[in-house]
Amino acid sequence: MGETFSDDLTNINQFDIPDVILDEIQKNIEEIISNFPVPEDNKLDVIRKINFMYSRTRYLSLTDSLTGLYNRRHLDNCIEREFLRSKRYSSDLSAAIIDIDFFKKINDSYGHLCGDFVLKETAYLILENFRKTDLVFRYGGEEFVVILTETGAENAFIPLERLRKLIESYPFKYNGTAINLTVSIGISSNNVETVEEFLDNADKALYKAKQSGRNNSVIYSE
Ligand code: GH3
Ligand code: MG
Ligand code: MG
Repeated sequence: MGETFSDDLTNINQFDIPDVILDEIQKNIEEIISNFPVPEDNKLDVIRKINFMYSRTRYLSLTDSLTGLYNRRHLDNCIEREFLRSKRYSSDLSAAIIDIDFFKKINDSYGHLCGDFVLKETAYLILENFRKTDLVFRYGGEEFVVILTETGAENAFIPLERLRKLIESYPFKYNGTAINLTVSIGISSNNVETVEEFLDNADKALYKAKQSGRNNSVIYSE
């Protein structure tokens, strides 16, 4: 299963926390102190409350509320760090963008609540399919990103195809109605100069996957 938020709570200080999040934390701390005045002799209570708010704020700022996956903001933090790390240590790294096929039709045919349900189930299937050392994000509406550490594109293809087939045959059911779902997947490797190209190549490969009929996985090639 891919890494989840709770797994790294203990490693809180290993994250580079962007200024915008620090500001949010600061605001929350001020709110606690003004809302819950604590006597001078009970500083421990204040610290406990601040710790709680810190974890909570961090959780909310890095995760997507619908699926519980890491959000786009956290992807921006992680992908650059993983890319630079892989370059520095000459290790393999790949990225995949997974996009649900014709998702609009699901909303249109069965309603938005059904769409949300399908997104949650799909998020869980993705998370469950990868190693703990891989990172899974909700990239946008019906798009997900997986970063596969120590894994080249050819090797990434294996679990991604396994996921694609799982989703294709998974018995999604909403209020008694069976729903068929497929995904298209674009995969890229870190054999490029910049992190922007790294993700962009996965997007280009995804475009090819869509063009060639959907429900398939494509590794980026020039
Ligand atoms: P394609 O196969 O080309 O990817 O087609 P598509 O319909 O999946 O792609 P398109 O980009 O046209 O539509 C994506 C849809 O995803 C449109 C939008 O209403 C829906 N969507 C985005 N976010 C959410 C969400 O949080 N919940 C629900 N229910 N739908 C969402
Ligand atoms: Mg899309
Ligand atoms: Mg789509």
